Amino acid sequence: YRVKAGGRSGYQTFSPEMLAAARELDLEQALRAALARGEFELHYQPQIRAGRGAVGVEALLRWRRGGELHPPGPFIALAEDTGLIVPIGAWVLREACAQFAAWRADGLELERVAVNVSARQLGEPDFPEVVLGALRTAGLPPRCLELELTESAVVRDVPGATRQLAQLRALGVRVALDDFGTGQSSLSLLRRMPVDVLKIDRSFVASLEAEGESVAVIRVVIALAQTLGLDLIAEGVENARQWEALRDLGCPTAQGYFFAAPLPAAEVRAWLGRSQGARLARETGLDL
Ligand code: C2E
Ligand code: MG
Ligand code: MG
Ligand code: MG
Repeated sequence: YRVKAGGRSGYQTFSPEMLAAARELDLEQALRAALARGEFELHYQPQIRAGRGAVGVEALLRWRRGGELHPPGPFIALAEDTGLIVPIGAWVLREACAQFAAWRADGLELERVAVNVSARQLGEPDFPEVVLGALRTAGLPPRCLELELTESAVVRDVPGATRQLAQLRALGVRVALDDFGTGQSSLSLLRRMPVDVLKIDRSFVASLEAEGESVAVIRVVIALAQTLGLDLIAEGVENARQWEALRDLGCPTAQGYFFAAPLPAAEVRAWLGRSQGARLARETGLDL
């Protein structure tokens, strides 16, 4: 960011705070333009169930900017603060539903697509209509959609979140608690919340081998899920040892670089074909 330092030529001196604000304003405007220009895209990470192969995909936002592909980390917080996540998130829902409907029409045998939703989106009064509109336009049954919310997004306004999610869930949309174990949700919250799936945060998976405490946490989450009748999925599985440990503990569903990184939509079909072939090869002992 170019500014003149000092007041020599009549320029104002910019404080670090002002520079940061200016940079944010730049980024905000760039994000707005990106949405208008169609620079966002979704990548899809396969979700694996032991013995079944891929059962779903998680849609993850990417920004194609000047030939480079940017992950959401650096811009998602600003999109949330400025409220831009609302129109961006609506686009994500429409795009994910349309893509998944196209895959189904094409014969891809996946159960569902998971979409990340921020607190800000959930708080919008018309959130249920936005979700249902995306499903309807795509011609996708609600049971094919899973909404991922973090514990903190839900804890912020439990009655509000419950109200918003209840009507979607009544129609068959699934709700997952993302990054589970890192937030402050309580047992009583879990019992009251309309939730179907717990996603074990990847920090626990990462320290599975090094820290006995992570094993204990994962055991508790698994017991919790079983008691409450919830599905489970572990995120961030990066190697065979972690995958084996998770299955031994009783978590047969996972996603992570060990299976596949998030893939551009155009590569999903080919990946599924290859993984299906590899699985058949293992199960039949044939070298396919
Ligand atoms: P998340 O929903 O917890 O997504 C998982 C993140 O972990 C993704 O990062 C994914 O690329 C990454 N990941 C997957 N497998 C592995 C692995 O084996 N090892 C490691 N180290 N990482 C792995 P990504 O795509 O950069 O997304 C970061 C976060 O941004 C997401 O975390 C989610 O909270 C948010 N996000 C992504 N897309 C959207 C969106 O469309 N809307 C909203 N509101 N948030 C989104
Ligand atoms: Mg997620
Ligand atoms: Mg997560
Ligand atoms: Mg996360």
